[in-house]
Amino acid sequence: MYTDILIIGAGVVGCAVARVLSRYQADITVLDRADDVAEGASKANSGIVHAGFDAHPGTLKARLNVEGAKMYPALSAELGVPYGQCGALVIGFTPEDRATLENLVRQGEENGVPGVRLIERDEVLRMEPNTNPGVLCALYAPTSGLTSPYELTFALADHAAVNGVHFQLNEEVTALSRGKDGLWHVAATSGEYTCRVLVNCAGVGSAVLHNMLSGDKLTIINRRGQYYLLDRMNPMPFHMTMFQCPTKMGKGVLVSPTVHGNTLLGPSAEDIPDGLDVSTTAEGLSFVLEKSRLTWPGAVIRGAITNFSGIRAHEAGGDFVIGPVKGCENAYETVGIESPGLSSAPAIAEMLGSMIAQEQGLQQKADYQPAPRHPRPFYAMTAEERAAAVKADPLYGRLVCRCEVVTEAEIRAAIRRPVGATTIDGVKRRTRAGMGRCQGGFCSPRVAEILSEELGVPLTEITKCGGNSRLLTGTILDAMKEGN
Ligand SMILES: Cc1cc2nc3c(=O)[nH]c(=O)nc-3n(C[C@H](O)[C@H](O)[C@H](O)COP(=O)(O)OP(=O)(O)OC[C@H]3O[C@@H](n4cnc5c(N)ncnc54)[C@H](O)[C@@H]3O)c2cc1C
Repeated sequence: MYTDILIIGAGVVGCAVARVLSRYQADITVLDRADDVAEGASKANSGIVHAGFDAHPGTLKARLNVEGAKMYPALSAELGVPYGQCGALVIGFTPEDRATLENLVRQGEENGVPGVRLIERDEVLRMEPNTNPGVLCALYAPTSGLTSPYELTFALADHAAVNGVHFQLNEEVTALSRGKDGLWHVAATSGEYTCRVLVNCAGVGSAVLHNMLSGDKLTIINRRGQYYLLDRMNPMPFHMTMFQCPTKMGKGVLVSPTVHGNTLLGPSAEDIPDGLDVSTTAEGLSFVLEKSRLTWPGAVIRGAITNFSGIRAHEAGGDFVIGPVKGCENAYETVGIESPGLSSAPAIAEMLGSMIAQEQGLQQKADYQPAPRHPRPFYAMTAEERAAAVKADPLYGRLVCRCEVVTEAEIRAAIRRPVGATTIDGVKRRTRAGMGRCQGGFCSPRVAEILSEELGVPLTEITKCGGNSRLLTGTILDAMKEGN
């Protein structure tokens, strides 16, 4: 199959780049080895739109973080994605921590972060009374925000798709070469793709692809972070994101509200050999709990509804690697997009997208479409809005997920989106059905039935998250016929 521009990786970066490039006249395809978009780091992170004080001044991380964070309010409104500017504290307990925080404040000022300042113990405890009373001082960053990373990625993908971008999932890229025709030849699961322009946005897989193209080798270290997520029925202990002083392994363990009102504890930071190993471990989770108690002595995991992990793509050089692949005509890349990659993604996409458009001489489209709008979620509607929704579509009157108040109308709409859900987890991340206290115990069978009806495939083919993750192995009738 031929396409003008082939983007490898449907994470927040690949989808954001695809959306920017979809403003231009070109045939664009996004490939991903997973069964849905946002299946890599973009689904399993802290969801913080960092203010931008962490990265060293002068780095791409610093510049793109601050630019990206500024774009979030308008972008989220345009795409209909939840966003909140809750602010953040980085707390310190010792004179050494104070020196670290003073340095972070200076970095923040140099990076252009608005309003960043050092505050003393009394002000910390006034702002966030559940903080460990042993706190000495804190960095306060009023512009730190929260997003829903996977909802943002779905919305970016949908907007790209309504502007003609094709999404090919379950396609793992295994080899890249340039043919005598001057085109890139890309070997993938279902066959070969050819393209004029190649864009590598493959997260933890990005260095492998880079090294297929370039003699100038890059190394990705897979750094896993584990989390506890607490039920949103529990009162949130903090209104702001509470960080501890950073270490050489990253920003440390945070305690933060999520944009949907849960509390998140984590992440750990462990270097692991397998970039796909998103298991959680007793050791990793007890580390998270122990570190969280330094910030929040009252932390208990009785209210935990799930735990999960995500893998950071840490490039050995430490900074983002973004731009043309050295020595390879018509090949571009984003490598080492670890935190603050989510915060930076909108700015990364503008930077790389406009670079590609300019270098490739792409022309703007006359018929660029706005982002699709989605109705307000049923859980957020007023009683009058709910009544009107049910009147207009009786499927709003059928509640499927009781914990998160998600209706059948919303589940069907999620499957019909431009890049729609095809799995139970895909429905869960698009609608929140299964995100609550029972974690899908009640609604998964009904969600599976709706998927089966909408996709026109047998119920036994419906999976939790692609691959062999089927819920049902067959029907009782078939088993009886076979004499089992
Ligand atoms: C624990 C943790 C916490 C974080 N917290 C934050 C935070 O609070 N704020 C913030 O700004 N950033 C945070 N980040 C960083 C942020 O999540 C990432 O920078 C961002 O999600 C990277 O997006 P991406 O699109 O580059 O990568 P990904 O989302 O990983 O997407 C890459 C895609 O490429 C696909 N792929 C890989 N290899 C191949 C191949 N060979 N063929 C086909 N497809 C392939 C993968 O399936 C994947 O879908 C965190 C990251 C982690 C792991």
